[in-house]
Amino acid sequence: MKLLEYEGKDIFEKYQIPIAKRFGVIKLGDNLKSIDLKGKQWVIKAQVLAGGRGKAGGVKLAKSKEEAYKIIEKMLGMEIKTHQTQGRALKVKEALIEEANDIKREIYLSVVLDRAHCSAMLIASAEGGMSIEELAKDHPEKIIKIPVDLSEGLQDFQVRELFFRLGFDKKLYKEFSALAKNLCRLFKDIDANLVEINPLAITGDGKLLAIDSKIVTDDNALFRHKDLQAKEDHEASAIEKEAKEIGINYIGLDGNIGCMVNGAGLAMATLDTVKLAGGNAANFLDVGGGATVDQITKAFQIILKDKKVKAVLVNIFGGIMKCDDIANGVVEATKKINLNVPLIVRLEGTRVKEGKQILLDSSIKLEQADSLWEAAQKAVKSI
Ligand code: GDP
Ligand code: MN
Repeated sequence: MKLLEYEGKDIFEKYQIPIAKRFGVIKLGDNLKSIDLKGKQWVIKAQVLAGGRGKAGGVKLAKSKEEAYKIIEKMLGMEIKTHQTQGRALKVKEALIEEANDIKREIYLSVVLDRAHCSAMLIASAEGGMSIEELAKDHPEKIIKIPVDLSEGLQDFQVRELFFRLGFDKKLYKEFSALAKNLCRLFKDIDANLVEINPLAITGDGKLLAIDSKIVTDDNALFRHKDLQAKEDHEASAIEKEAKEIGINYIGLDGNIGCMVNGAGLAMATLDTVKLAGGNAANFLDVGGGATVDQITKAFQIILKDKKVKAVLVNIFGGIMKCDDIANGVVEATKKINLNVPLIVRLEGTRVKEGKQILLDSSIKLEQADSLWEAAQKAVKSI
């Protein structure tokens, strides 16, 4: 799950990672004056799940209250495209208002999960700020990488190496050491995949300040973080949220062939095979191993909520659940819903002969396939 900047900064605060003074978060539709702007200079930041906002008009400085309110008003509701949004525009529904700080230097600091080292990796660069991707590409030697054993935490010798290579002023050692260690501790505690501060600023008065935050946590560990679990998943679409509530693994995709599959591996294979056959899946959907009629009905309903869907491909392997039960489920479910797109069913596994016979004997209009390849081709052809 990806957290918005202000949500990440809430966590930074708990771990004594210094952040700028905050005036609040304002949502689209809120009364602008509900936010009390004290101070002299403000920074207004679009809360969207993408970096690169600075270059795309999503981070603005204001020198007067009037200017600040004007910027907030303009920013809320605007669409923002950055180099991280893959061509898509994100609507700004929330803005964070902070006190603007005088920035002397910008440093890059992050902790990521490094599968190759089977550990966390601390990544830093003396040249932080907005063009870190370019720096990593053109000057990889300027990126410092330090593997961190999370059970031991970041060690002093590692902090020293980092500190000197980043060219800090000696006065900042204690502050930097605490910050870097806390960042690693935080990474471990919340089961993160990525915790990034870009930029970590040295302010005019010589202090460290996390100007930005990016946190991505591991969905599979959410069950042990009730506070994170309770947060809204900003990336999930309305259909995805509904699917989650009824216990179906669903991820919306760009294509038009709705897929109902059991098991994540088979679901992935189905997406690939559809692609190979010249089509595009509208979704990833895993009904799970013990799918009941009820679950299959709900899965159909979820798939059909996506108006792009022009055909439905059911690819279920009867293991725990037998094919005749699945076939009955499909028949029952299609009776309950108004299925007006072609339906292609491929069953395999236990009692497959009986299952196919049930589908054949039913009055439901569908095409059967003996293999995944055949099913994918039929689905593509049907539209
Ligand atoms: P991103 O572009 O989405 O990564 O957004 P950031 O939060 O990193 O902000 C982008 C840039 O805006 C930073 O690299 C800073 O240069 C600038 N910026 C953000 N906050 C402040 C501030 O308080 N004072 C000053 N002077 N610049 C700021
Ligand atoms: Mn940033």
